Amino acid sequence: MDPLEHASIPSLVYLSLSSEPTIAGLTALVLGAVFPDLDALAEEHRSYLHSLLPFLPALLLGLNLGGPFLLFALGWGSHLFLDFFTGVVPVAYPLSRRGWGLSIIVTGPRNFRVELRLIERYPDRKHDYRLEIGGSFALALLAILTAIIRLH
Ligand SMILES: [Zn+2]
Repeated sequence: MDPLEHASIPSLVYLSLSSEPTIAGLTALVLGAVFPDLDALAEEHRSYLHSLLPFLPALLLGLNLGGPFLLFALGWGSHLFLDFFTGVVPVAYPLSRRGWGLSIIVTGPRNFRVELRLIERYPDRKHDYRLEIGGSFALALLAILTAIIRLH
């Protein structure tokens, strides 16, 4: 999942569910939502910041402090949630590199079938990649439009 999707999806949820969304709250949420991909600077893409070991204390701190700290932690949590469906999340990194994710495959229209499969493997090693962000860009524009409407 690319950074535009990671930023847009929780933003749309926040802008839809919050009775009084703020630009500061949205900013904290988006920063938290893209923050774990700083792992791309480490040896492995999904590593330290994709682990529950730093996330859970950050969530507890956010629950304690509230406001933008909580929104940052919720953004971070949304990143891990979304990555769970697009690969694996190494929940105990660096103690273990083993990760878990959920694969959902839909086939059809003939012999329509939905296949759910729990994945357990190690995250892919870091590699150069090329992102096709057309769909993500449309989603980001929708989030920006929604923010303009809800934040003015
Ligand atoms: Zn990620």
